[in-house]
Amino acid sequence: MIDPASGFDGVRDVCIVDGRITQGWRCDGPVFDAAGMIVAPGFIDMHVHLREPGIEHAETIESGSRAAAAGGFTTICCMPNTIPVNDNATVTSYIVERARNAAIVNVLPIGAITKGSKGEELAAIGSMKQAGIVAISDDGKPVMNSRVMRRAMEFAKSLGLLVIDHCEDLNLSAGGDMHEGTHSTRLGLRGIPASSEDVMVARDILLAETTGARYHVAHISTRRSVAMVAFAKSKGLPVTCETTPHHFALTDEDLENYDSNYKMKPPLRTHLDVGAVIDGIVSGAIDAIATDHAPHAGDEKMQEFERCPFGITGLETAIGLSLEKLVHANRISLMHLVRLFTTGPAGVLKLDRGTLAEGAVGDATIFDLDSEWRYEVSKSESKSKNSPFDGKQFRGGPVATIVGGNVVWRREELR
Ligand SMILES: [Zn+2]
Repeated sequence: MIDPASGFDGVRDVCIVDGRITQGWRCDGPVFDAAGMIVAPGFIDMHVHLREPGIEHAETIESGSRAAAAGGFTTICCMPNTIPVNDNATVTSYIVERARNAAIVNVLPIGAITKGSKGEELAAIGSMKQAGIVAISDDGKPVMNSRVMRRAMEFAKSLGLLVIDHCEDLNLSAGGDMHEGTHSTRLGLRGIPASSEDVMVARDILLAETTGARYHVAHISTRRSVAMVAFAKSKGLPVTCETTPHHFALTDEDLENYDSNYKMKPPLRTHLDVGAVIDGIVSGAIDAIATDHAPHAGDEKMQEFERCPFGITGLETAIGLSLEKLVHANRISLMHLVRLFTTGPAGVLKLDRGTLAEGAVGDATIFDLDSEWRYEVSKSESKSKNSPFDGKQFRGGPVATIVGGNVVWRREELR
């Protein structure tokens, strides 16, 4: 058992009674033999797109929750860019209700910052908070107007809500399909410069300092943005960030074949940026790993590179990629890896989760370090198949996912 909240790393039975972690002697229910495996607090993915309401052919709350469970996640936070946008309490309540009835993991909605995520008028943030949102973000669309962002941060501060920004200056990134550099030139694709992310991170950190709001950079991908977040932290500002597995596992050199499954925002960056992201994970500048799971139905993603939408699925490959690039590569300890998926995001969002302490919610992620397995996107629990990791061989990955004391998913050979 590894529990970063208490620093425990050793052999111990984990007992869950009535949905809560409890002392071992009262345990008399079904036993899951996790000998030789790692038992960790339930993993939290704070950045997921579930496409319901409105785009259910790509993903639903139910199918997305199944993909989450298959990836070892017990809690996921869903971004508001549904149809309609989750910018008012009615939509928030709908998501909460659907999740209660159909999801096999915990689903926590994130509300929009502005109405329709259009970046103009503030959304109904107060009533959405009462309905259950855990943060606000216009993810997918940045809040371009600095005055609107300042007002949002002031309001979020008064409510104690986290503000998450998808950092992209749309004037700098306009029309771009991949990272701007030698590879975009060689491939003849239009570039998205690193500065389109950097200038927004810089602006937002200044506004966070002005307003005192808790501010979080979504899917950080550039070396300058990582450096700015580290600087903000060194000044004691309430600034945090996440990165995604694809932003530390792939570079813009991987785009060779115009494969649309390598098209995402922010785009895959250079090996220097990937190095800085991994260094940021090692140093603690980066607080959490989130997948930015972005399902798109086959016919939409299977268009020519310039026309297809941005984003890839990611829930089922996150642990495998993180083990490969961070733990097996000897960059961080297993304890640190678990922290990035548990106390890291729980601390950013101020969730009462992410620990196996006595009395905590009975959510656990069981994974192993050495099993050889192959990811086959055709067997994905997600309704969409847009992953660049189809056919990839992994060493170690999720074994079972426990939510509220119930095993909601286990690896195929254990069924
Ligand atoms: Zn985004």
